[in-house]
Amino acid sequence: MALQFPIYLDNNATTPMDPRVLEAMLPYLTNKFGNAASRNHAFGWEAEEAVDKAREQVAALIGANEKEIVWTSGSTESNNLAIKGVADMYKDKGKHIITAVHEHKAVLDPCKRLQKEGYEVTWLEPGRDGIIYAEQVRKAIRPDTILVTIMWANNEIGTVNEVPEIGALCKEHDIIFHTDATQYVGKLPCDVEAAGIDLLSASGHKMYGPKGVGFLYVRRRKPRVRLTPIFDGGGHERGMRSGTLNVPGIVGMGAAAEIARLEMPAEIARLTALRNILEEGVLEQLDHVHINGHRERRLPHTSNISFPYVEGESLMMAIKEVAVSSGSACTSASLEPSYVLKSLGVGDDLAHSSLRFGVGRFTTEEEVRYTLAALVKGVKRLREMSPLYELALEGIDPNTVEWGHH
Ligand SMILES: *Cc1c(COP(=O)(O)O)cnc(C)c1O
Repeated sequence: MALQFPIYLDNNATTPMDPRVLEAMLPYLTNKFGNAASRNHAFGWEAEEAVDKAREQVAALIGANEKEIVWTSGSTESNNLAIKGVADMYKDKGKHIITAVHEHKAVLDPCKRLQKEGYEVTWLEPGRDGIIYAEQVRKAIRPDTILVTIMWANNEIGTVNEVPEIGALCKEHDIIFHTDATQYVGKLPCDVEAAGIDLLSASGHKMYGPKGVGFLYVRRRKPRVRLTPIFDGGGHERGMRSGTLNVPGIVGMGAAAEIARLEMPAEIARLTALRNILEEGVLEQLDHVHINGHRERRLPHTSNISFPYVEGESLMMAIKEVAVSSGSACTSASLEPSYVLKSLGVGDDLAHSSLRFGVGRFTTEEEVRYTLAALVKGVKRLREMSPLYELALEGIDPNTVEWGHH
């Protein structure tokens, strides 16, 4: 098949919807339009049945009971509901929260708001490998800690934190554990029981489902987690999230979860192979490049690479037929270096020289090989114009100073 442009390698920002997901949704956008809360006629029952099926599908993907799934508009809402909901419900027990500096803004900002309202937040910092380890959490726990919120996989560098270990630790100390698993769910195996998770956020559009729908897993037993709702209204979703359910979106989320569950082993293998073609090619054909974040503890499809002596924005122009991100999608409108890379100790210059590649379900090997060739050509051409790179070749390397491992 001939290559089609542009090539999409930004699957951490959003994923295209799987055609099978659209297929499942279509009837609920047309003749099956009932309100799932209408209890007294067939239109309502039909919608409710579809929502229940989707609940089972996402529960199966994460090892939960379907009664533990609360539908939301996406992970931003799920994170807000989890963090603010716990903070308010358990404030008499304590007002201390533990999180990390390189979380997504949808976790950082709710925590910052709580801080302004009088809660205390401990901000853990990763080392060069980008991982948050259970031992760091252990050291931060206090008698008044009510919530630990640590993402499962990072959206910019793909690193996978020590979530099951952190879950076990929180159980031991009777602390509620929330994880923003938006990048992780549907990509790698997830079992909320085995991982000791009390609250988990996920989103449709990061796993080949529709935008504007997501869910929050809320543990019902051992312990039963309670949340103060953000919305007041009809009391839908066991009182935790009022509002008429987005039935077509929920059906799509369910279908996406089922496909992810059934195809995960094959998809992990395929995406790892594609990612490796790109990474190994870059490392073979270019000198002075760095892969950011732990090489093994990583999502199979994500690669964040620094190309010293090349400006990320110029490199994006040089490969403009390929859609990638420099920094994170949320901050690429501004010229601020990525706070995630900075938290790893990557200097500002190097952060500006970094690109994130995310292959996905619909990425072909041909597309990856095209990207690799364009990238190598682009970097070489831009470096020809860089006096700093010439110095580096002579052994005087201002940037490697920042790259000593610690
Ligand atoms: C995309 C993303 C979010 C936000 O999810 P939405 O469903 O778009 O609101 C939150 N956390 C992480 C890690 C993400 O990647």
